[in-house]
Amino acid sequence: MKHPELRLSRHALLDNIAAVSARLDGCELMLVLKDDAYGHGLTWTVETALVAGVTSFGSYDVRGGLDVRRLVGPDARVFAWATSSDEEVDEALLQGIDLGVGTEEYLRRIVARAEALGVVARVHLKIDTGLHRNGVLPEDWPSFVAHARSAEAAGVLSLDGVWSHIAEASDRDDDEAQAAFLDAIRVTAESGDTPTSLHLTASAASWWRPELRGTVARIGAFCYGIRSADGPELEGVRPVASLVAPVTAVDDERAVIELGSFDGLPSTLAGAAVGTPGGTRRLERIDPFTARVEVWPGASVGDEVTLFGPGEAGESSATTLAERIDTVGEEILTRLSPRIRRVPVD
Ligand SMILES: *Cc1c(COP(=O)(O)O)cnc(C)c1O
Repeated sequence: MKHPELRLSRHALLDNIAAVSARLDGCELMLVLKDDAYGHGLTWTVETALVAGVTSFGSYDVRGGLDVRRLVGPDARVFAWATSSDEEVDEALLQGIDLGVGTEEYLRRIVARAEALGVVARVHLKIDTGLHRNGVLPEDWPSFVAHARSAEAAGVLSLDGVWSHIAEASDRDDDEAQAAFLDAIRVTAESGDTPTSLHLTASAASWWRPELRGTVARIGAFCYGIRSADGPELEGVRPVASLVAPVTAVDDERAVIELGSFDGLPSTLAGAAVGTPGGTRRLERIDPFTARVEVWPGASVGDEVTLFGPGEAGESSATTLAERIDTVGEEILTRLSPRIRRVPVD
């Protein structure tokens, strides 16, 4: 190894998906792939997930959704929830992407594009359950649903889902969100068939609060083995990625690795423990292109330093590092520069 690598464990991803699926107990897993599959790389992640039997994928935007469609073929479900331009909507409709719709204006545009193209738009309507991050307010919901139903009757839309997003920060807020969500489903069911895809929860609530789950759970973090910051370990789940960098220079006091803040390693991580061939050492300082590690006996150029990784002598995971600087494991992984090679290892 000459350069830093983000090593990816295929077995860990397969095992995590199996553990999460078992925990979901019949509720369908939608694997969330935003931010280049949380920094793991879209292609590798999707190919591995297909082996694990995943048939439903969530991408933030249509562009990413189209990339997923190319990888998964025509049958798997691909859901994209960011409001998109008409051009992207056209491509999404032609490629059979399910669209998350959280405004009346976006619904109107999708219906118009589906009419123009002569296709059926598959949509999941979003109710605002308190986060105020896109989503239709309860008072506007009946007319929103009526709009979708009339497009359905005209043969240009299929109302496949009702969904929302919750903060997963307080049980009480999440309970209130669920009440609003269930109410939206009830109103929707009064005007026709109940949509098959009902989804509210992401990793934490899907795992810890089964009573909040609908028929689908949108899960990213836990599948990648990223536990919640300050949250407990998860049975059967371990980090997929390890970040490893070779020593490029050594003197009496320190070893230098070629990995710095420009590569996405936050300089505030100085002081964290990392794994070295001589045991755990402190990361002393992070500069733009390099970082310094406390030296160990016999340290030499080419030795491997593990910034994070399962079962290593350093910090155990991206989340443990993240907790030091008050952020979440996703943040550590998604900030890593694409220049750092993603290397499948098992
Ligand atoms: C990121 C995201 C998820 C997945 O969240 P995790 O906590 O990583 O499982 C689910 N739904 C939406 C809308 C998201 O933006």
